[in-house]
Amino acid sequence: MKFTPETYNIADKPMTPFIDSDEIWNYIHETISTKEKVREIIAKSLSKKRLNLEEVAVLINADDPQLIEEIKEGAKTLKKTIYGNRIVLFAPLYVGSKCANNCTYCGFRASNKEVVRKTLDDQELISEVEALEENGQKRLILVYGEHAHYSPEYIAHTVKVAYSVRKENGEIRRININAAPMEIEGFKRIKEAGIGTFQVFQETYNREAYKTYHLSGKKADFDYRLTSLDRAQEAGLDDVGIGALFGLYDWRFEVLGLIRHTNHLEACYNVGPHTISFPRIKDASSLNFGDKYFVSDEDFTKLIAILRLAVPYTGMILTAREPEKLRNEIIQYGVSQIDGGTKLELGSYSKTVKEEQNLNNEQFKINDDRSLNDIIDELLDQEMIPSFCTSCYRRGRTGEHFMEFSVPGFIKRFCTPNAILTMAEYIEDYAPEQTAIKGWKAIEKNIETLEDEKIKKSVLEKIEKIKTGERDLYYKKDARAKE
Ligand code: SAM
Ligand code: SF4
Repeated sequence: MKFTPETYNIADKPMTPFIDSDEIWNYIHETISTKEKVREIIAKSLSKKRLNLEEVAVLINADDPQLIEEIKEGAKTLKKTIYGNRIVLFAPLYVGSKCANNCTYCGFRASNKEVVRKTLDDQELISEVEALEENGQKRLILVYGEHAHYSPEYIAHTVKVAYSVRKENGEIRRININAAPMEIEGFKRIKEAGIGTFQVFQETYNREAYKTYHLSGKKADFDYRLTSLDRAQEAGLDDVGIGALFGLYDWRFEVLGLIRHTNHLEACYNVGPHTISFPRIKDASSLNFGDKYFVSDEDFTKLIAILRLAVPYTGMILTAREPEKLRNEIIQYGVSQIDGGTKLELGSYSKTVKEEQNLNNEQFKINDDRSLNDIIDELLDQEMIPSFCTSCYRRGRTGEHFMEFSVPGFIKRFCTPNAILTMAEYIEDYAPEQTAIKGWKAIEKNIETLEDEKIKKSVLEKIEKIKTGERDLYYKKDARAKE
């Protein structure tokens, strides 16, 4: 089906097609990448300016190993200057694996009779959230197949249940969602339940390729999916996440597709996506998937560095699909969020015995099954500061307002202090002795980097309060201001 403005009207506004395959291929084929151009573009990005499609294509076409190294170095520098050394941690929680779609790459596809379908009931959901809280998690992403059972009302209900769980000092302070696209009314329901980000991955931005992977069900409609986050914006849900599943089509096309989608959201709603995800296809139950578009580690690391340079202020999510060693490398190129202690099998967080992954019980294979604490240890060894901060979302600094706050200085006044405070809470409540020793040292070191003496003093006071049992002491206003 060819996209026409009449095809989808979002709140009575006709949409213009914003993914044009020929346009994207033209950028790839007609852009010439010289040393000078690449360096100029890296410099533009380091001055924190967004890159346009042509500039991104220049980086994509850079194939000299020295230039690729410079792109990666540029991404590392940008990450340090914008995000500092914080990494935000979260965990995925699968709520239901029933699915009416047939996405050929996914273990949950309707035609797969091997996979065991399960939907958590309220008590199971509570047990899972309790187990996650006992590990120290504060941020979750709830994940659902696409099925009539998982209506907006049902999803809103599960969000409310998850928020209500309190295990000792534990609580979930932010819930993001990865679920099927909805109508505007549905998004409104979900927003009312108090979610953070709503993620919908386009999987592939190439319309023809999309058809070959999405054989039946609602997801077979490319345009309905492509316009889903417009409907979210129209519903007032201004915190959205986009993504492409790498391995379905040419990675160069997907990178430009993600940037084009970002430009579209920025142009229409004054705010780009809050996050970009770049999952790579992994093995799944009864999967027999070709490797025509397999993305090598080399191309994968390059494309992540390019995305970082292209959209300096957009959060980037790297999941446990990727193995530990690669995750440790990629984190340096500008990732802002990772998951830790990940388990995909429904109901497995509350199981006491660790079991081998059984692909018939989950969506796909993960390659990093370290516990949350092991990941925190590793981040501390790499001089990163793990963060569970949820301040922006809870103070309503989302969407356009979030972008306003993503300015130099904001990180030092809000994000670093809040990362330190949430880490202090984690140490007090959950960390084993060795992590606690490392963690306090890291906190001390990071407090030293705070230039403003007033902020330093206030952070130290808050830490003393955390030590005496107070919790949730995040900066709601500028940390320089008197609270
Ligand atoms: N069912 C909803 C949907 O399709 O939008 C929720 C998403 S699904 C549970 C989460 C994401 O996992 C998908 O959007 C897709 O990008 C990714 N995914 C599916 N199969 C995968 C595989 N075999 N390996 C890695 N990621 C996969
Ligand atoms: Fe269902 Fe989502 Fe898997 Fe597609 S990717 S089969 S919609 S769970």
